Amino acid sequence: MSNKVKILLLYTGGTIGMQKDFETAALKTFNFSKLLQRIPELKQLDCEIETISFENPIDSSNMNPDKWVDIATVIADNYALFDGFVVLHGSDTMSYSASALSFMLENVAKPVIFTGSQLPIGDLRTDAKENLITAIQIASLRNNNEPVVSEVCLYFEYKLYRGNRTTKINAEHFQAFTSPNYPELVESGVHLKLNSDLFLPLIKDKKLQVHKNLDTNVAIIKLFPGISETVLAAILNIPNLKGVVLETYGAGNAPTEDWFLNLLKKAIGAGLHIINVTQCSGGSVRMGQYETSTGMKAIGVISGKDITTEAAITKLMFLLGQKTDPKDFKTAFETSLRGEMI
Ligand code: ASP
Repeated sequence: MSNKVKILLLYTGGTIGMQKDFETAALKTFNFSKLLQRIPELKQLDCEIETISFENPIDSSNMNPDKWVDIATVIADNYALFDGFVVLHGSDTMSYSASALSFMLENVAKPVIFTGSQLPIGDLRTDAKENLITAIQIASLRNNNEPVVSEVCLYFEYKLYRGNRTTKINAEHFQAFTSPNYPELVESGVHLKLNSDLFLPLIKDKKLQVHKNLDTNVAIIKLFPGISETVLAAILNIPNLKGVVLETYGAGNAPTEDWFLNLLKKAIGAGLHIINVTQCSGGSVRMGQYETSTGMKAIGVISGKDITTEAAITKLMFLLGQKTDPKDFKTAFETSLRGEMI
């Protein structure tokens, strides 16, 4: 038996494995195992790679919580057999998936690295090879027989990020992602520069727990000057709605008009959890810093601090799925579970 590090590569879909349809010229998913044969470089890596694919690979715009459960299940079923996992995924919703998986995989003690590309792997100018090869290399890194990285990450264009800190910012540039409130964990240049002090510590004494219950009775509301009472009321009154990520302005500010605060207060009174997240791409919610947020603080709006919207909505689904006691919900949300907030 070889002592080589074993990596499981899971292809869920995305541009990385797509090809142009001859008739329409649109990119669509293709049999990835065939495409992998076109990367002889993978054989040079000092690890054993096994691949597995979604039966029907998808464009990540079709990603949903059931498919997050499929990803989590593949990882759980193969957890003891592999040293690391690389998940190939479309870039469009990769930050949502990486965030969701970070919550679903509690006590993960092996690297789970999401990556993909802006151009298909078969394209001459593709960014797929570097992303794929370096993601596998980082997933294989070991120190004293222990994994160097032991969290859910996202690798794209020379940078490894904490997955639940990322957001997609560009549909054109190879640098498609950023992590506005947390520095990159690894930078790939001539050498791999590891910012080890930023990694989550390796969890040694706890077993992996896979949480598969996600509650989708949630919504995201982005404020804009002119948002009407009718619109806000219609959303907050959706039957069975349990939680809302409210994208506010700046440091968590919103209108101070009575109708606005009254609607939120009524919703909270009816058991809805409202999370205040900023629309700014960087920085943190600080309710109470301005008069325009003190009202929300007083009625029990939850602070999303410096969380991304992607991590906030998936954390909300996760905590609701865990049947978190309503009286503990605010504290649970405001506590960092996987390094997703300060
Ligand atoms: N539409 C593609 C997807 O998210 C884009 C990509 O893969 O980068 O699946």
